[in-house]
Amino acid sequence: MIARDIASQKHGGRVHTRFPPEPNGYLHIGHAKSICLNFSVAAENNGYCNLRFDDTNPAKESQEYVDAIKDNIRWLGFEWDGEVRYSSDYFEYLYNFAVQLIEKGLAYVDSLSAEQAREYRGTLIEPGLNSPDRSRSIDQSLDLFARMRAGEFEDGSYSLRAKIDMASPNINMRDPVLYRIRNIAHHQTGERWCIYPTYDYTHCISDAIENITHSLCTLEFEDHRPLYDWILHSLDLESLQSASVLGGEGFKYVLPEQTEFAKLKLNYTMMGKRNLKEMVDSGVVQGWDDPRMPTLAGMRRRGFTSAAIRNFCESVGVSRSESLVDMSMLEHAIRDDLDKNAPRAMCVLNPLRVVLENLDDDHIELLSLQNHPKEEDMGRRDVPFTRDIFIDRGDFEEEPPAGFKRLMLGGEVRLRGSYVIKCDEVIKNSEGEITELKCSVDKDTLGKKPEGRKVKGVIHWVSATAGIPVKVRLF
Ligand code: ATP
Ligand code: MG
Repeated sequence: MIARDIASQKHGGRVHTRFPPEPNGYLHIGHAKSICLNFSVAAENNGYCNLRFDDTNPAKESQEYVDAIKDNIRWLGFEWDGEVRYSSDYFEYLYNFAVQLIEKGLAYVDSLSAEQAREYRGTLIEPGLNSPDRSRSIDQSLDLFARMRAGEFEDGSYSLRAKIDMASPNINMRDPVLYRIRNIAHHQTGERWCIYPTYDYTHCISDAIENITHSLCTLEFEDHRPLYDWILHSLDLESLQSASVLGGEGFKYVLPEQTEFAKLKLNYTMMGKRNLKEMVDSGVVQGWDDPRMPTLAGMRRRGFTSAAIRNFCESVGVSRSESLVDMSMLEHAIRDDLDKNAPRAMCVLNPLRVVLENLDDDHIELLSLQNHPKEEDMGRRDVPFTRDIFIDRGDFEEEPPAGFKRLMLGGEVRLRGSYVIKCDEVIKNSEGEITELKCSVDKDTLGKKPEGRKVKGVIHWVSATAGIPVKVRLF
């Protein structure tokens, strides 16, 4: 679509996208798909991508979320063009455009209560009913709308509605609300406003003001597209153009167009900021960046790299058909990236002490190990080898199953990057639990095969005396 639009010079050949989060929570892996799409489509076509906070619902939004979202986007590896933008930057324009709609007879101030409005709206199979206020005069609506702004009324006593069609099969077109009274402060505009525009009304006009060419969003907005177009086409083109950022001689002003794509859905994963917020608020998790959360902040703490997430989004692709992506794809992406880029170190999770009896008490030998099995460029590190070491309990079996290649009584194994050792004795406590293994080192096996026999198993280990205690979180 983008290639076609560039070829036909539809928007003067421009590509300008935006990522429009509502600052009502932290971003999750689903948002990463939208971020990658919007920013890469722009970058691949010498275009621009804005970051715009869709901040029309001050009751649910906060500066903390604004800051976290900016941080998440940068961490993912993207940078927006120009300043951060806010829909609230355009509140004055939005107000004036609403006045324009009233003047054209395309919007009216309604006094139905929320409950009444619901009754009048109709259902999917029944048309709605016109509100008695639909026939209110233009002058009356203008007067009431000005007084709504002036703070004369209680929340919910009036709203501004578009005058479209209460019998439309598309419920979004049944005189949707454009403005509500909400006597509440806003994280960006403070106490300046007590009426707030709705998402549908705000989004299309904000896109138009920012000269967005391709407004990419998820499929649940498909049924809102007629309203997106209705609002923009109901306003005077010149007035939209004069509010817009770009312009000047020879500039071809074109209205933005919305195109939908399928949301990312991952199996076993709950998304939706509303749900995630509930987990944070109820204390089920320790915060938005709890490593168990599917948020970008949580995944980052869990050890995901941004490259892995970008690669994952790319491999998932963009389409219009809803599908469930398997968790194994995400895991593959992170394994692939870590395998290539992560320096290695040895760590023992469930330690079993091994005493190497033919070494001196104070034996300490620095063994040089490659930081990455394949990438020599990643350098080497010195690993201290001592008389007391730890191996993982799972790497020793008293009664080994057939084919067991690790350590057993009387058997041999190689310590990774070090010598071959042999287990001579198993020490147990009074409960019969293994507390220690007594082993011996074949000193002629550093960097070479043992004489006359094959040792297949290689296990990891750390020095019990020179190793560093660590806290490991397993998920
Ligand atoms: P949530 O339901 O999780 O709160 P949202 O769509 O309400 O998501 P917004 O902040 O409004 O969150 O979304 C910003 C952008 O991210 C929108 O363009 C939206 O379409 C997109 N987006 C949200 N969830 C997904 C997802 N799962 N996959 C792809 N894009 C998504
Ligand atoms: Mg939302």
